[in-house]
Amino acid sequence: MDYRSLPKALLHDHLDGGVRVETILDLADAQGYTGLPAVDVDGLGEWFNQGRSGSLERYLEAFTHTVAVMSSEAAIQRIAYETGIDLAADGVVYAEIRFGPSLHMIHGLTREAAIEAVLDGFAAAHRETGIVLYAIASALRHETDSEEVVRAAIPYLDRGLVAFDLAGPEAGFPADDHLAACRLAREAGLGLTIHAGEADSASSIWRAVARCGATRVGHGVRIVDETDFDRTAISTFGPLARRIRDHRVCLEVAITSNLDTSAFPSATEHPFGALYRSGFAVTLNTDNRLMSRVSLTDEYELAATTFDLGPADLAQITVNALQAGFGDWPERRRLIDEVVRPAYASVESSQAAISEST
Ligand SMILES: [Zn+2]
Repeated sequence: MDYRSLPKALLHDHLDGGVRVETILDLADAQGYTGLPAVDVDGLGEWFNQGRSGSLERYLEAFTHTVAVMSSEAAIQRIAYETGIDLAADGVVYAEIRFGPSLHMIHGLTREAAIEAVLDGFAAAHRETGIVLYAIASALRHETDSEEVVRAAIPYLDRGLVAFDLAGPEAGFPADDHLAACRLAREAGLGLTIHAGEADSASSIWRAVARCGATRVGHGVRIVDETDFDRTAISTFGPLARRIRDHRVCLEVAITSNLDTSAFPSATEHPFGALYRSGFAVTLNTDNRLMSRVSLTDEYELAATTFDLGPADLAQITVNALQAGFGDWPERRRLIDEVVRPAYASVESSQAAISEST
């Protein structure tokens, strides 16, 4: 199967986790930033590719360098544009990219200017490739400015910024510390997705959904702590797991990222296959393309080969993402009906033809 050419949808990707290495070097040079741990493409690429670094904290450290060079409107716009170009080249037809407007204020940039720069970059990539791109504004769990982030995001609701997210260290920083921001976001009409159940327990997922009102969960894989599962199925469900499945809460799963943060020891021990086959609304995501040296093509291929998923399964996973998206519904529906389903059906029928003829 040529995974790259298949149309894919991406709900969970961080703008500052997917910057091109060449661009980081370029911008650092132009801005006089001297803090990079290496000054050539290969050396810096190696440094960012931390692989199985062993902790979420270590993984997050790499962001200090990408954020450091994202301090002007032009830099942010360029990175947003290149993100769209790179994703389109990877076969992604729809993506919601998240970023923290507060992270780019070091040199006097406002949150609003950062948001506009991202949306301008996305619009340019859309014009060039046709990829459908939306932005999600993230606030950090361990910071106290989540309401300010939401207030900055609200005016851009109909201009391509569709949702609010909570990211950052999970343990010790409960999502409901940000209840006011979540409520403000929902009442204004922003979608709500929250990183939960990546490093912390299944109850952290329930807190994000029941208390904060998230309809999607970033990662959410620790829901399996409430189950007994193997590579193919879940045999027993705890009550939280059953409700996450039955309420069709979308889980934005990122297998490679989970391996890098040691959430699971190996792909075969990852619960993605069991969650998918047991009826959870799972999707596949890159999370941080730079730090995990991963593309959505890689992630689809890893899931397909590890859990024996065929074109019909990958089509379903892609449709799950488009159905759970926060962007324009007629557009998502068009992608499902006219792009995604026909492409995977054609791969399926050509595979059937090959197996008949052999
Ligand atoms: Zn994430």
